[in-house]
Amino acid sequence: MKTTELTCIVCPIGCTLTAEQNENGEIVSVTGNTCPRGKTYAENELLHPVRTLTTTVAVKGTTKPLPVKTDTPIPKDKLFDAMQIVNSLCVEAPVRIGDVLYTDLFGANLIATANT
Ligand code: SF4
Repeated sequence: MKTTELTCIVCPIGCTLTAEQNENGEIVSVTGNTCPRGKTYAENELLHPVRTLTTTVAVKGTTKPLPVKTDTPIPKDKLFDAMQIVNSLCVEAPVRIGDVLYTDLFGANLIATANT
């Protein structure tokens, strides 16, 4: 049996969760959650962790980078590969907030979070 402590980040309360996994990696219990969302969070975090990628991309003709993020979380184990793709990009101005700069970045779109 493996025990993992997590802090639920679904809401500002930040409950401390304790999850137990059996020898097959299956979650057999989650405790410490004040609501059902904490159990779902622990299950996702342990079995299929995802993160929203927030970074910047280069803009042609300027040294000022453009803030960007994925529009949905991507698998945590793909963040490094995603960053290699993002670092290879150089977008052309003008760009507006919400513009899609790259599609299907491990299941997400890369969107601008600022105007150029
Ligand atoms: S378990 Fe529920 S109440 Fe606790 S931090 Fe997570 S979402 Fe908030």
